[in-house]
Amino acid sequence: MTPPVTAPAAHPAQHPHPHPALAAADPEIAALVGAEERLQAGTLRLIPSENYVSPAVLEASGTVLQNKYSEGYPNRRYYEGQQVIDQVEALAVARARDLFGVEHANVQPYSGSPANLAVYLAFAEPGDTVMGMALPMGGHLTHGWGVSATGKWFRGVQYGVRADTGLIDFDEVRALALKERPKIIFCGGTALPRTIDFAAFGEIAEESGAILVADIAHIAGLIAGGAHPSPVPYADVISTTTHKTLRGPRGAMLMSRESHARAIDKAVFPGLQGGPHNQTTAAIAVALHEAARPSFRAYAETVVANAKALARELLDRGFDLVSGGTDNHLILVDLTPRHVPGKVAAKALDRAGLVVNYNTVPYDTRKPFDPSGIRIGTPSLTSRGLTVAHMGAVAEWIDRGVAAAGRGDEDALAVIRAEVAELMAAYPAPGLPV
Ligand SMILES: *Cc1c(COP(=O)(O)O)cnc(C)c1O
Repeated sequence: MTPPVTAPAAHPAQHPHPHPALAAADPEIAALVGAEERLQAGTLRLIPSENYVSPAVLEASGTVLQNKYSEGYPNRRYYEGQQVIDQVEALAVARARDLFGVEHANVQPYSGSPANLAVYLAFAEPGDTVMGMALPMGGHLTHGWGVSATGKWFRGVQYGVRADTGLIDFDEVRALALKERPKIIFCGGTALPRTIDFAAFGEIAEESGAILVADIAHIAGLIAGGAHPSPVPYADVISTTTHKTLRGPRGAMLMSRESHARAIDKAVFPGLQGGPHNQTTAAIAVALHEAARPSFRAYAETVVANAKALARELLDRGFDLVSGGTDNHLILVDLTPRHVPGKVAAKALDRAGLVVNYNTVPYDTRKPFDPSGIRIGTPSLTSRGLTVAHMGAVAEWIDRGVAAAGRGDEDALAVIRAEVAELMAAYPAPGLPV
């Protein structure tokens, strides 16, 4: 029998288009998605807040759960037809409780910033004093920093790290808390290379009568995987994104003891949000399921081992690291001794296929939009399978890239980019078409 004659396919049969409906309906966006896929595949992502989700998380977040409105909570909705969605959200909540060992979890916040805003709504009134780490010291905007709504509608008082050690000074935090009596104290941040002492914050919050919020957005995956201590015994509320080390979809969760459950749930809905993003809820449930597996513990351990090895290799090449190294997934490099501004270095490294972000260092003498440091991390490269054995090469590329940035050597950056692409081709990214 002769096979039927078919029209030549736009793509060879063994490589069907990864997004055929999108390509047919909107070639422009399909082309941009393809370009982003190639960019993510061919570069080394060193941004510590980014990661690659698994194919399962990616599929869950692209489902028809998207089509459903579900204002309210399981079995208490304002829309009918929740027979399935209720089960999805209940499963996500149960998995969050099991994984982190908490009594209550709310999986509806759209992202980390709205999750934190819900905490203010639950526990403070406009004008109240709140305390967090200053943004240029490594805190987050939503911890009461001036340009954020949380710093405009609340009175933010801020602590930092010591200039000599790069570490949090708990005497300073305690003195500030007892003087200012904040309603809420935030701990955690976006550029903290060291273990957070949740017990010390817990004591200070108790002494000063504040609600302690542990914002574990960056380190949730490390905590779930046993590679960083848990705030559960000490924090009143735990706030986290789901898309950083936890390797879930872009989203967030608030966790607490049962005694705060009502306040948190009311603040998220109806206080702040409308309908939850059910496709995201499903993808969070999948990510939590994956994070409960033994392989995720190995992942979290390798993230930290890789960061420690990379820090060592950078120190060996004369780099100045804030706090002298790392305990977690993140390294903050002060480029002042190299005489290359952080932004110049970050942009040059990007051209070399090494994706980092420029970042302030504590007591930075330069402006936040043009600071002295770069921030790098190992969650993404660990998701692609790189190990401690690769960290010498990564440090060498960063060293050569910063040097090339300093002398404006585009040819040297192009050579690095080709070397990076060659290594990354051997370590395909989860979720990306080959
Ligand atoms: C990333 C982050 C957030 C905010 O998350 P978004 O999803 O970007 O709004 C909040 N707090 C900390 C500590 C973070 O690192």
